[in-house]
Amino acid sequence: MLRFASLASGSGGNCLVAEARDAASGTRVLVDCGLNLTETERRLARVGLQGSDISAILVTHEHGDHAGGVFDFAAAHGIAVYLTYGTRAALEAEGKVLDGVKVCLVSGKEPAAIGALEVRPYTVPHDAREPVQYILSDGSARLGVLTDIGCSTPHVEQALSGLDALVLECNYELDLLWAGPYPKWLKSRIAGPFGHLDNRQSEGLLGRVERSRLKHVVGAHLSRHNNTPALARAALARALGCSDDWIGIASQEDGFDWRSC
Ligand SMILES: [Zn+2]
Ligand SMILES: [Zn+2]
Repeated sequence: MLRFASLASGSGGNCLVAEARDAASGTRVLVDCGLNLTETERRLARVGLQGSDISAILVTHEHGDHAGGVFDFAAAHGIAVYLTYGTRAALEAEGKVLDGVKVCLVSGKEPAAIGALEVRPYTVPHDAREPVQYILSDGSARLGVLTDIGCSTPHVEQALSGLDALVLECNYELDLLWAGPYPKWLKSRIAGPFGHLDNRQSEGLLGRVERSRLKHVVGAHLSRHNNTPALARAALARALGCSDDWIGIASQEDGFDWRSC
């Protein structure tokens, strides 16, 4: 069985937990850890876990809302950090890679096995050194995670085809972004090809992937200022032709509770 939950989602910190379980044992990983150690542990307890239940952390890229708490958590619990060469280099340059923490390099070309979980990184366009996102599988069901991507590509859409569950960035509503409080350079960065996906881009992406097995779609990384859960839900529901209620939303404060595929 494959199940997943989110501890937090948004520019204030991202952290998702995924678990593959067979009769004998379970493997749990974090995808990103953008919260501090105390807050990560507090939120893990909310989904019935403690730090010692986690086997590894997969990092998508070096931005603080994804990597800010990674090495503290990994050091505290003696677990490995999986990241790309470029993400490690960027974090090293900022002095954020801690000695004594085991680092496993991944690339967009090779899957990795972590206990009962199969992990497939795939490359994405975003303004970081070597960003990837991940497909996680227990050997039968597949979960795709996609946030922090400026525009969709055929490569991304192929990676996300045939999934059982998808956590998909819906960062902003274009009109709200342009009318909102951010300085112009930041608006241009967010809306640019290496920034973030808006509701309409996410709707288009979801409409183009093969989705006959999809049982869960959750909108993620919503901007507090430039989006609303209702707008994100409506966009993803349009792509699927389903009711808005069927679409989940990952929030900054609560993430979302366990979902099983
Ligand atoms: Zn982010
Ligand atoms: Zn980012």
